[in-house]
Amino acid sequence: MDRICIKGLEVFGKHGVLPAENALGQKFVISATLFCDTRRAGQSDRLEDSVNYAQVSELLKAETESQVFRLLEALAWHLAKEVLLHFELVQGVTLQIEKPWAPVHLPMDTVSVQIHREWQQAYLGVGSNLGDRENQIRAAIDFLREDALTRVVRVSSLIETEPVGGVEQGDFLNGAIEIATLRSPEELLELTQGIEKKLKRERKIHWGPRTIDLDILLYGREVVQLENLCIPHIEMERRMFVLEPLCQIAPYAVHPVSGRRVQELRQALSLEGDWEDKSRSEGTEKNSTNARKGF
Ligand code: ADP
Ligand code: MG
Repeated sequence: MDRICIKGLEVFGKHGVLPAENALGQKFVISATLFCDTRRAGQSDRLEDSVNYAQVSELLKAETESQVFRLLEALAWHLAKEVLLHFELVQGVTLQIEKPWAPVHLPMDTVSVQIHREWQQAYLGVGSNLGDRENQIRAAIDFLREDALTRVVRVSSLIETEPVGGVEQGDFLNGAIEIATLRSPEELLELTQGIEKKLKRERKIHWGPRTIDLDILLYGREVVQLENLCIPHIEMERRMFVLEPLCQIAPYAVHPVSGRRVQELRQALSLEGDWEDKSRSEGTEKNSTNARKGF
């Protein structure tokens, strides 16, 4: 991707762990690489079509002067976030902050911290089968919208599905949501679980009824395998109630492990459903319904 670079911006700030640093202040040197598509600006030759590096520099200076952080890491994240939130064209930013007068008392040129942050495209699955299902799903989406680090890009229509997993319970409403987020996968799970909690989800029965279920299906092309978090969602290929709404908004999104597109996964699962139905009972009217449910 194209880059716009700001190199060696000198700013005075009071960041540091020592009280003397917070009182006296010192010089900080900021460099920022802004990742953005400059094609349109290249053709139009209009500043409005690009990222105004003077405005970015002003923002970096103003934020460095008006806040006090102990760590360069915290300042760097704050600045990266401000740039990504204020300049829509900027997809990612690499930010370096040098502190040439850091109180180290040894001969050295400078110390610095460098970070890279970017908007990530992710897909969530949402479901509800208890209480006012539609309103709860709408409320969950509103909570996602309220998160400063997340943008809701697209929402599928909601489909009615029968429960899977053997527990006797009401039908579900299911949907899929595309988001852009500055959160890491774990931070995104924190957000989705926080929303489940706010909507009073209680984990009583495994695979039992729930006011809201918010799952992370895909996070870019990343594969995450932690004790409490697996991405892509481990069950997504086997769940028609996930693939059907996801296929509405992202038919060509790629599952990073199998390398197959959502549309292909959906088709494969629906064929599997047909086959299983036929092997159980020849040609009953349940065939198409079960294919839709994915079991
Ligand atoms: P399910 O969504 O499979 O019906 P739950 O919502 O009860 O089941 O999931 C329970 C656990 O799954 C959570 O505690 C969470 O830590 C874990 N988990 C693992 N991977 C994911 C993921 N990709 N999205 C959401 N939860 C996940
Ligand atoms: Mg879940």
